[in-house]
Amino acid sequence: MADFINVILPIPLERLFTYSITSEEAKLLKPGMRVAVPFGKSKIYTGLVHDIHQDPPQAYEAKEIHQLLDDFPIVHTTQLKHWEWIAKYYMCTLGEVVRSALPSAFLLESETLVLRNNEYEIDEEELLDDEFLVFEALQHQSVLKVQEVSAIVERKNVLPVLERLLAKKVIVLKEEVYEQYKPKLVRYVKLGNEHTSDEKLEELLKSLTRAPKQSQVVLSLFQLQGKTQKPIKVSELEQASNASKAVIKSLVDKGILEEYFIKTDRVNYDGENESSDSKDLNEYQEAALGDIKSSFEAGKVTLLKGVTSSGKTEVYVKLIEECLQKNLQALYLLPEIALTTQLISRLQEYFGEKIAIYHSKYNVQERVEVWQNVLQAKPKAQLVIGARSAMYLPFSKLGLIIIDEEHESSFKQFDPAPRYHARDAAIVLGHLHNSNVLLGSATPSVESYYNTQTGKYGYAEITRRYGNVLMPDMELVDIKESQRKKKMKGHFSERLFLEMEETLNEGSQIILFQNRRGFAPLMECLTCGHSPQCPNCDVSLTYHQYRNQLRCHYCGHHTALPESCFACGSPELDTKGFGTEQIEKEVTALFPNAKVGRMDLDTTRGKHGYEKIITAFEQQELNILVGTQMLTKGLDFRNVNLVGVMNADSLLNFPDYRAHERTYQLLTQVSGRAGRTKKRGKVLIQTYNPYHQILKQVTTGDYEGMYKEQLYERGQFKYPPVCRIIKVTFKHKNYNVINEAADWFAGALRTNFGGTVLGPEYPPVARIRNQYLKHIVIKVKIGESLAGTKYNIRRIESSFKAVSMYRSVRVIYNVDHI
Ligand code: ADP
Ligand code: ZN
Ligand code: ZN
Repeated sequence: MADFINVILPIPLERLFTYSITSEEAKLLKPGMRVAVPFGKSKIYTGLVHDIHQDPPQAYEAKEIHQLLDDFPIVHTTQLKHWEWIAKYYMCTLGEVVRSALPSAFLLESETLVLRNNEYEIDEEELLDDEFLVFEALQHQSVLKVQEVSAIVERKNVLPVLERLLAKKVIVLKEEVYEQYKPKLVRYVKLGNEHTSDEKLEELLKSLTRAPKQSQVVLSLFQLQGKTQKPIKVSELEQASNASKAVIKSLVDKGILEEYFIKTDRVNYDGENESSDSKDLNEYQEAALGDIKSSFEAGKVTLLKGVTSSGKTEVYVKLIEECLQKNLQALYLLPEIALTTQLISRLQEYFGEKIAIYHSKYNVQERVEVWQNVLQAKPKAQLVIGARSAMYLPFSKLGLIIIDEEHESSFKQFDPAPRYHARDAAIVLGHLHNSNVLLGSATPSVESYYNTQTGKYGYAEITRRYGNVLMPDMELVDIKESQRKKKMKGHFSERLFLEMEETLNEGSQIILFQNRRGFAPLMECLTCGHSPQCPNCDVSLTYHQYRNQLRCHYCGHHTALPESCFACGSPELDTKGFGTEQIEKEVTALFPNAKVGRMDLDTTRGKHGYEKIITAFEQQELNILVGTQMLTKGLDFRNVNLVGVMNADSLLNFPDYRAHERTYQLLTQVSGRAGRTKKRGKVLIQTYNPYHQILKQVTTGDYEGMYKEQLYERGQFKYPPVCRIIKVTFKHKNYNVINEAADWFAGALRTNFGGTVLGPEYPPVARIRNQYLKHIVIKVKIGESLAGTKYNIRRIESSFKAVSMYRSVRVIYNVDHI
């Protein structure tokens, strides 16, 4: 009998593809292995074997595979089950999940572009003949298509050659050539090469007799190196020699010392071998830990709600310890890895080389390395810390999943498909592995808290900060009143100004929070009121003083600042609204002696952007940090005593049913940055609406009140967790087509389906990159079948796609989180 395999191709087509294999191959192949297969006229794809069988396809003749790419499965069957769940639940194809789950180095295809890797010196001797041919070709031509490589090595099956070249760091893939994420670098020193021998060192010390401070530094370094063989941090040397930065710098400038950098959170941990013991918990942490464990025993997903700085992390550490002792794997999911070097170094103290870090922005080799380590259940990847994509890793014996800051919206992937929520998908993963799942937050999402109230989830809480540090003192400042009394200095109320002055005088640091979303400065003509618009999107351009440009935040379009109004020609233009940039400028003018830094998408984009700013603030090289949302995420600064929220109203007015919940979370988290050590911190929230319920709830820490009110509103307006929602988005470049298409779809939904169908409606920004957008929202009551509804929607979509005019309309689904 002939043998066949069903293959998942990483493309957005619904079905699996059947290929024929030889009986030899049938013996070797298992689900989860990769094969190179022909597709269409001339394409080659890497596909994943789904299953092996003997049924020839009915509709077409099965092609033969090109070749086997693996000796053993790189994906487990549990993973395939999980991915099938994701595809089904989030309404996308299994191929799309595979594309997003596997590191791209595993998915070479004929269209992949390869480039020369300029970061490494290549030893040509080490290359095999075919590898050398590709290497040589890349000396003459900077980019090659996989098909071209095929011609160069005169062979059809080139994927293995390319994989070898990737592993040898000879090439990189086109999509890898970005640098959004860079791990934190720590500065180390060593003696310059010329001075390493004993005689040379003696000579050196003689020459430094007139510079006692410098010779002290050299001696200290010598002593430190004698004690340990490990690298020596600049900060350690500073401490040991009691010398200033300037002295060390002058030695570096002279070439006597040499500086070098090591990434703190690269895949390999390069710290001490012995890990330190975890901390003893206090009684509140103990109690929470006990509750969590008994809830785990009852087989429940558990939520830990602990105020900011209550020591949740130390509780996680205990659970991880226990899990690792049982020789099981643990997964620690975080919303934004780039902002968490602080947490990573903390965990490294305890778990040292058992930690692997996984992030979609990591380069190809690092991701493949972690994948392999997890696949082989190696000790050095026993604890995986990562952002949402880490839940795709090939765990085989997962004992614990921690989802830290579970309320964070960045757990949701919006584009491309799968549009999944990593918290929810990780909970399903936990079920498949029978592992414990803990959600943690100071401000849990309404959904998760609701699940604890209905008994679906277990619950534990810590209501005090660790070490009896008081919760910060929060105060609402009425800026309407201040404006009326003419007491505003720019965007600063007198109250905030005075408090800042006092904080600076005490030598403490300040964080100023300005939400940029929907409140970026616009340019407006004072004569006719016109604001320049983006030609590709339906939004006004925002003003960026730093570059003296107008920019679109949706498509990146930018133009130089106009001298006069595009509409009426008047030269009187003004800016409206304010962003972080303007706040930074005002602060600098108000406090000329303070050092001010700014943290937002613009300042953190470049190499090491985040790290530079966070480190500078940590090291107290900055007095004031102005920033956006990014400031809220779990940062632990020791010396911040004042947090100022410039304007809370823009958050509240955001057109989204979660706006109030998000405002509560954001303000509470940002406030949590204040006074994390001994002294009680202070938080001032400026608003036009000091009587707003949410703001009162924030200042009194009334989570319960917020929760009850939000739940009531969601009940009234039928939103999660009281209802399930699915959003259907239509995208097309033609205005008439999109209107007709969306109406057709909504009509079909209304006839076929009993639930609530809202829309079609334009979103607030109805055109992005020249594509019009329209939404339909479907609400499904709890108790009604969500799966059934999805099935019906899919059926409607196939009739929709059968209408020729609608074929080119893109249909996008978002489930639960819209
Ligand atoms: P959270 O994660 O709840 O915001 P953290 O775990 O960051 O809180 O704890 C806040 C601070 O208190 C940290 O600096 C941490 O090292 C310290 N801390 C927490 N628990 C303990 C403990 N049991 N012993 C000593 N220090 C602790
Ligand atoms: Zn005008
Ligand atoms: Zn635009």
